[in-house]
Amino acid sequence: MELKIIDHATCTFCGCVCDDIQLHSDGQRIHKAEKACVLGKAWFLNHSAEKHYPDALIDGEPAKLADAISLAAELLHAADMPLVYGMSNTTCEAQKQCVAMADHLGGLLDSHTSL
Ligand code: SF4
Repeated sequence: MELKIIDHATCTFCGCVCDDIQLHSDGQRIHKAEKACVLGKAWFLNHSAEKHYPDALIDGEPAKLADAISLAAELLHAADMPLVYGMSNTTCEAQKQCVAMADHLGGLLDSHTSL
C-alpha cells in the first residue's frame, strides 16, 4: 500500500485551525497526521467521507431536518439561559451564526476546547 503524503493540511477540529499538518493517506483513509495534537490526530484518523448518521435526530430517532430545526427553535426559545456549545469542525460563517444566535437568545457561548 502506497501512502500519499499531503503537506500543510489544515485541521478544523477545535477552531485553532493548525495549518501545518502532514497527512499520510492511501486514498481511502488517513493513516497518519503528523504535527497534529491528540484531538487533531483522533479527528483525522477517524474521519470518513462515508455517511454514518441521518441528517437529524429527534429523541434519538431519525427525523426530517426541517422538523428538527423547528423543535430546536422551540426549545431554545423556551430556555432560560441556553448554552450554544461546540462549533468544532464548523466554518467561520457557521461560528458567526452561533455567536449571533447566543446573543439573540441571551444565552451563553462556549467551544468544546473548554474541556
Ligand atoms: S485539534 Fe489540535 S491539531 Fe487540530 S486545530 Fe486544534 S490544536 Fe490544531
